Amino acid sequence: MEEKGTISIHTENIFPIIKKFLYSDHEIFLRELVSNAVDATQKLKRLSSMGEFKGELGDLTVKVSIDEKNKTITISDSGIGMTADEIKKYINQIAFSGATEFVEKYKGKGEEGKEQIIGHFGLGFYSAFMVAKNVEIVTLSYQDGAKAARWVCDGSTEFEITEAKKDTRGTDVILHIADDSEEFLDKFRIQNILNKYGKFLPIPVSFDEKVVNETTPLWTKSPNDLKDEDYLKFYKDLYPFSEDPLFWIHLNVDYPFNLTGILYFPKVKNDLDFQKNKIQLYSRQVFITDEVKDVVPEFLMLLHGVIDSPDIPLNVSRSFLQADGNVKKINAHITKKVADKLSELFKKDRKAYEEKWDSIGLFVKYGMISEEKFYEKGKDFALVKNVDGEYFTLEEYRQKVQALQTDKNEQVNFLYASDRGKQDAYIQSAKKRGYDVLLLDSPIDSHFINNLEQKLEKVSLKRVDSEIMDKIIEKDEKKESVLSEKEQTAVKEVFEKTINNKSFTVQVESLSPDELPVTVVLPEFMRRMKDMSANGGMAMFGAMPDQYNVIVNANHALTGKIIKAEGEEAKAALAKQAYDLALLSQGLLTGADLTQFIQRSVNLIG
Ligand code: ADP
Repeated sequence: MEEKGTISIHTENIFPIIKKFLYSDHEIFLRELVSNAVDATQKLKRLSSMGEFKGELGDLTVKVSIDEKNKTITISDSGIGMTADEIKKYINQIAFSGATEFVEKYKGKGEEGKEQIIGHFGLGFYSAFMVAKNVEIVTLSYQDGAKAARWVCDGSTEFEITEAKKDTRGTDVILHIADDSEEFLDKFRIQNILNKYGKFLPIPVSFDEKVVNETTPLWTKSPNDLKDEDYLKFYKDLYPFSEDPLFWIHLNVDYPFNLTGILYFPKVKNDLDFQKNKIQLYSRQVFITDEVKDVVPEFLMLLHGVIDSPDIPLNVSRSFLQADGNVKKINAHITKKVADKLSELFKKDRKAYEEKWDSIGLFVKYGMISEEKFYEKGKDFALVKNVDGEYFTLEEYRQKVQALQTDKNEQVNFLYASDRGKQDAYIQSAKKRGYDVLLLDSPIDSHFINNLEQKLEKVSLKRVDSEIMDKIIEKDEKKESVLSEKEQTAVKEVFEKTINNKSFTVQVESLSPDELPVTVVLPEFMRRMKDMSANGGMAMFGAMPDQYNVIVNANHALTGKIIKAEGEEAKAALAKQAYDLALLSQGLLTGADLTQFIQRSVNLIG
């Protein structure tokens, strides 16, 4: 039997187009061919278990080998094999029409189209022609009395089928490597590719006499049979240089879509750790990509681990993926599972949960801000920490502070510090009044604060240095001033003259005598406007100078001293020193002003 023929496809020569298209991703040919070999082997195993194949299965290892002298790479399996007719049907028609369809779809999409498909589209058998000038298939079907067949093709539409000599069941795919692809004849290169895509294939794959894969990776096993050590070991296998994770979730869904996997919560030290290790996406144990952006919700990309689903369409563009119903369901399911796990940990062992909070807090806050569904669950297990290191849920915290920190409008005021060191004076002042102060000092907290204010009813959050303590929580009580109105105006003028800066507005207030004589505050509203403009958007506020309030305590002894001081100069000197002290505690006194202040202070005590 000898047959030459022409493969009937629409596009005359698709090969150059494909080669150009996937230029940067040629290595996937090996993933595709090894996957085919694995599929053929699994099919045989299935036929055997159904009793349709009665012969010996024998050694089912898929073998990959390089022949440097003849410049070939061979992928051999002992799977179902193909008859000559099947080659015509499956290779000439299916494989080639798949490739044609691919070209039709992505032709003319340019660079963007290319980016979308690389790593997402399995070109199947045809991808062999990305690296080979000639491809040979030598195969013997498992069927009784089948004859071995040999197929040769150079990637054009011309092919040749002849009878072959092959005594063992299965298929050898022999790639005659093209001159510009000789890099793939390198042992280490092949090893790397197999390691990247084939580490968890379900049938043993050997290269250079060694099996390269683990055929039953942890996520395919039943959680009931697994111990903590197993999960920790698997994590180390995936991310050899990382610290142990905090905990994990074993995903296992059959309906309405198929999904397995293990998601790990990493111990977070810095943002870089997050980016280094990524969730890996598999389809039936074949590695597809670690760009899972559209498959899992964005906040879950902070997690590590693997997701395996044959129901995620891999061969479509990104915009399609986002709209895909299965992907949406998978998203929702994973979000729910993660929330349930956190809730369970919170309920089971509060202390252990608090200890982990510094690592998982960022993740939970991010999730609550970005996903409404996650907020609904997260509000019950999200924690806030006060400056004394005590943890509370949001509801517990409201209960704790509402007696003292409710203002005249019945808003409960949560006070917070964003920098414990710099805001110490304000924290102490708050505590003197019995107020509690939260520590919200991570980069995500400014967003989290906005989010909480929108969601929590009758709660406002105020930074501890945004107002003088007597007024930060507005109550109806009024303190009497020891100064007459005339004296107040006089003091105000002294300070205005001394400060002489439009960005600082002087107010004289009747505060308790043990409050500081002068306090500089940046009102909460102003600061948030600045924060917002710094985070992009609202550019008009970027140009605004900071507007500070200088609060002079009318009831402080020093203020009385200023009134009584003889002469303009003496008044101004006292005012200046008190004002500089206030600036100093805000970290606003710098440069020449700071040097002068120190010199003056030295003179005072000297
Ligand atoms: P896909 O694997 O997505 O179906 P391919 O182009 O990779 O597409 O392969 C086309 C078909 O050729 C396969 O469906 C299978 O029937 C057949 N085939 C490919 N490789 C082998 C193999 N090693 N053994 C048996 N059949 C194979």
